Amino acid sequence: MNRNEIAVQDTWDLTPVYENTAAWEAALAEASEKIRTLPRLIAAMTASAQALYAAVRTVSDTGLLAERLYTYAHLRYSTDTSDNEARTIMGRAQNLLTDYGEAAAPFDTLLLTLEEAQLAAFFRELPALEEEYGILLRNTFRYKPHTLSGAEEQLLAAYQKVTGTAEDTYETFTSSDMKFGTIRDAQGNEVELTDTNYAMYLRSPDREVRKAAFTTLYAGYRQFSNTFASLYAGQVEAEKVSAKVRHYGSALEKALFPDHMTPEIYQNMVNAVSGHLDVLFRYYRLKKKVLGLDEMHLYDTYVPMNAGAVDRKYTYPEAVEEVLNAVSVFGQEYVDILRQGYADRWVDIYPNAGKVGGAFSGGCASTAPYILLNFQGLDDDVSTLAHESGHSMHSWFTRHNNLPQYADYSIFVAEVPSTVNELLLAFYRLEHTDDKAEKLTILGNLLDLYKATIYRQIMFAEFEQQTHARAEAGEILTAELLCDLYYKLNEKYFGDTVVLDKEIACEWMRVPHFYYNFYVYKYAVGLSAASHIVSRIRAGEPGALESYFAFLKLGHTKNPIESLKVAGVDMTRTDVFDSAVAMFAGLIDEFEKLAEV
Ligand SMILES: [Zn+2]
Repeated sequence: MNRNEIAVQDTWDLTPVYENTAAWEAALAEASEKIRTLPRLIAAMTASAQALYAAVRTVSDTGLLAERLYTYAHLRYSTDTSDNEARTIMGRAQNLLTDYGEAAAPFDTLLLTLEEAQLAAFFRELPALEEEYGILLRNTFRYKPHTLSGAEEQLLAAYQKVTGTAEDTYETFTSSDMKFGTIRDAQGNEVELTDTNYAMYLRSPDREVRKAAFTTLYAGYRQFSNTFASLYAGQVEAEKVSAKVRHYGSALEKALFPDHMTPEIYQNMVNAVSGHLDVLFRYYRLKKKVLGLDEMHLYDTYVPMNAGAVDRKYTYPEAVEEVLNAVSVFGQEYVDILRQGYADRWVDIYPNAGKVGGAFSGGCASTAPYILLNFQGLDDDVSTLAHESGHSMHSWFTRHNNLPQYADYSIFVAEVPSTVNELLLAFYRLEHTDDKAEKLTILGNLLDLYKATIYRQIMFAEFEQQTHARAEAGEILTAELLCDLYYKLNEKYFGDTVVLDKEIACEWMRVPHFYYNFYVYKYAVGLSAASHIVSRIRAGEPGALESYFAFLKLGHTKNPIESLKVAGVDMTRTDVFDSAVAMFAGLIDEFEKLAEV
């Protein structure tokens, strides 16, 4: 379908953001004018409390306006990338953000030249400065001990591109230059194996296909093992040096700093999850039984346990009702706001020519929390609606309960509400169907989700921890060492439940996340926190709902670790991870009982 063939009520309504392109143009001119005033205001900002207030307010307001302009352009562009006008305003909005970024950059640098006592005196003198911008200013100020002199910072900035070489080269090499050759698919056709279609072949019901994909892919990686080791070692070295010159205790400490995480909390999480491998081993044994295998190899572990399952089709109104029913445990207020949001056209529902793929929840502090879907009526599409609605309701609550400068939330906590809603939908479906095949499908998908999101990511997290610790102790990260460390972790995380094919030692070479500097553990945090919250709410625990709503309203007024605590998720303890594991174990029980295995 072309964009103009889609019914208006099935598209999102952007007129509350800007009535039309002319209104957008007028706002753009206003924003450009404001950006021109920034250098003068920033240059004077350290002189007095009033000067700092004027600067921070204008920097913040201009940033919010630029974001609103970008949001409108981006949302229009997303629904039709072939629309020339949308492409043009998108380009102009990007330029505006760049101009803003350049003009606002000296703000942080100058703020960090203040002494802490001086900032405190400004707060006392002008309470509005602290009330409206205290958290924002202190968040920047946190970096003072890790900020160098002007000349040193300039030198580091000049070298920034160089330190990203390992990651850039890795990306180019794996996406453009790596070739794996061909395998035979289930129909006997010769097909070229790529890193992208590998996942599909690994799920093939035909064992020969999966085995061929597995051995061929890793043979491809293995021949470049020294190159991969050298790239990864380069990445680790860059992180190590950057942490050292900025006075952090380790690369891990530096990577965790923005989220107020600590190496101790990280370690606590790794210990808590890897202390429950018995449940993971139960999952693998169950899979082996369901698949009817005498011995299960690594290339068997991605086959879904629910092959041949029924796929229900949904209309969009049915999907909406299903999601609203699933989240009704939150009470009427939540349901009413969401229902009204759907009616107010937050959602751009169906695919059309030129529309971007996938789904997202977006908007900015001063707009509705818009949702982009490519709804086709599949089970997954309903889950996606639940997921994105979780993001959007989170945004709705933060935007309606905070000053605009605090209305956003950190990525660290972002996946919690979306995952909570996905889990609630899955439980709702389990409880509202008598169809055994459908139940097994839902349970099988949930089991795979826990395995992939919690255990696998924590295994990755341990790998990153070990490689950085070795590098920081002065060891050289050779291909042999990396393969050895990785293989040993697989021994730990698979136990004796599968045949540990030797090829797996090379798997670290194909995980791009190892170039994202201690990122993967965040996936495990999201699902663990969501599981803990859902268990408490479903058990009707007193205060569970109230604490969850308090969390949804926080925005940037608390740091990520403190925000999670408000939701009852204390990352310094182990009960969060115990809950997630208990939920995983309970799902295994249910699957076993239902499948009678
Ligand atoms: Zn999400």
